[in-house]
Amino acid sequence: MDEFKLIQNYFARAHTGNGVVVGIGDDCAIVEVPPMQKLAITTDTLVAGVHFSPETAADDIGYKALAVNLSDLAAMGAQPAWVTLALTLPTADEPWLAKFSEGFFALADHYKVRLIGGDLTHGPLTITLQAHGLVSDFVTRDGANPGDLIYVTNTLGDAGLALRLLAHENPVPPEILVRLNRPAPRIEAGLKLPLLASAAIDISDGLAADLNHILERSRVGAIVYVDKLPLSEALTTAVSSDEAWELALSAGDDYELCFTVPPSREKSLLQELKKINCPCTCIGTITATEKLELQFTDGKKYHGKTQGYQHF
Ligand SMILES: [Mg+2]
Repeated sequence: MDEFKLIQNYFARAHTGNGVVVGIGDDCAIVEVPPMQKLAITTDTLVAGVHFSPETAADDIGYKALAVNLSDLAAMGAQPAWVTLALTLPTADEPWLAKFSEGFFALADHYKVRLIGGDLTHGPLTITLQAHGLVSDFVTRDGANPGDLIYVTNTLGDAGLALRLLAHENPVPPEILVRLNRPAPRIEAGLKLPLLASAAIDISDGLAADLNHILERSRVGAIVYVDKLPLSEALTTAVSSDEAWELALSAGDDYELCFTVPPSREKSLLQELKKINCPCTCIGTITATEKLELQFTDGKKYHGKTQGYQHF
């Protein structure tokens, strides 16, 4: 089957609605950006053997490839709208493509994201997506100020635990595996951040590494209380406190949001997040020192591992 037939069979969907003027099948897609809104654009590549194990189910790969891109939109407070997909495949494996597109569209349909174009090529399994979102107001990494409070959504370290268990060929509890294979992009929470949060980022490479991006861009420091990090029961049951803290700080793939909020806007933001039932936890404070200090609430320093995932 040729490239066009494969695209037609597995990826071409009715492209009406959501501002799509011309969808899949032409040289470019044409979309309509609503007046007074801006486009938020992000791209991410997943490489087999680097970002996911070659044994990962195709539907999980399809889901996650989109989830990681939507997570970047969430981190800036964007409403997802469109996506393009460049897929490099070792073979034209139709059952694989059917599962991949099933996982992909499960998440795309949930957020009404339209696939508006892409490319299919032959080579080692690689998936590149570009996602487009709409914003009126947005939040960036560079607005944190000394005195702001640091929050994270949900729990941290579960995806890291799944990776660690898989690496040692240990069984992975389903509630942990789903956090690795089907991370939930925090779109609804992200939409609450503009105008209330001072800075935000999604946690893809580990909390310490990603919070450091906020600190660098904002030219501030932070104190984070390690014993305040939100940990799931599954994580604290599976490993010691030391290991759980280490995973929460250094393991990637959580795709939770980390944001900072001035004390004067904290109450309003917490109320907004409560409306959408998004759990969040205050883990520390922004300081003027331009460094990240990890300690316990009793003042003791934390000496565990904090290095996040490094690509090079
Ligand atoms: Mg990101």
